[in-house]
Amino acid sequence: MAFFEVVDPRFGSFVMGNAPVKQIATGFDWVEGPVWFGDAGCLLFSDIPNNRILRWTEEGLTTFRAPSNYTNGHTRDRQGRLISCEHGTRRVTRTEWDGSITVIADGYQGKRLNSPNDVIVAADGAIWFTDPHYGIMTDYEGFQAEQELPCSVYRVDPNGAIEAVITDMACPNGLAFSPDESRLYVADTGRMFHADPQHIRVFDMVDGRPRNSRIFHTIAPGCADGIRIDTDGNLWSSARDGVHCLAPEGHLMGKILVPEVVSNLCFGGRAKHRLFITATTSVYSVILNRQGIQRP
Ligand code: MG
Repeated sequence: MAFFEVVDPRFGSFVMGNAPVKQIATGFDWVEGPVWFGDAGCLLFSDIPNNRILRWTEEGLTTFRAPSNYTNGHTRDRQGRLISCEHGTRRVTRTEWDGSITVIADGYQGKRLNSPNDVIVAADGAIWFTDPHYGIMTDYEGFQAEQELPCSVYRVDPNGAIEAVITDMACPNGLAFSPDESRLYVADTGRMFHADPQHIRVFDMVDGRPRNSRIFHTIAPGCADGIRIDTDGNLWSSARDGVHCLAPEGHLMGKILVPEVVSNLCFGGRAKHRLFITATTSVYSVILNRQGIQRP
């Protein structure tokens, strides 16, 4: 089968015909939140409905944490610590080096967060996360509950102060900075239960805050859930038919075709050139001729 679809000829040099898209783990219900630990040679990811974080290595699969409080997205902070979005407890946490859990954010202006979905850490150490309501809509990926806050993007300062920085999106989901952090990209999956295609917004970072909101790209077929950036500023987005690679100018360069609906992705591997893809019941990987921005 063909693994790739080239739209912009440059994409042809991003992928390699002898580097297949491989299923490396399967049997889950809905996986998201992949994060690479080069120091441990492992990938962690969430099997959300089954309330667990799994650990994949070349030797096989083990359970990292169960119950996981229905974690979704993960990243690592500038010190390499695991940062997690938890649907079940409606909070963002940090796992310390001794294994203890520190709460980064669980509310705003006296109200509970909805269900933190995805998270990134900026160069200044600030933690940025999205808070759509998916984890409280049903009991499938958390606990059904009343929504207390609009679906916003938040920034948590290293001093602990939390601020709603984007408040006009329907359901902000995946997010990523450009390599120099002059731009912020945020996927809006708000309309995923309708027939409309999904879009990714781009913001200019002005004085450390997102400004000049505009539509960067409309994913079709949807949805744009998780997004990641490579070192040249190309954006790699989840889509219904695989992973779409978008140029910094916003056009589709090519696709990695995946046989299941893709949720999230992350770069990892020896040279930050391996793309790990969570897709419905399975995890896939493919080696690219690209390097991802993968911190630390
Ligand atoms: Mg997500």
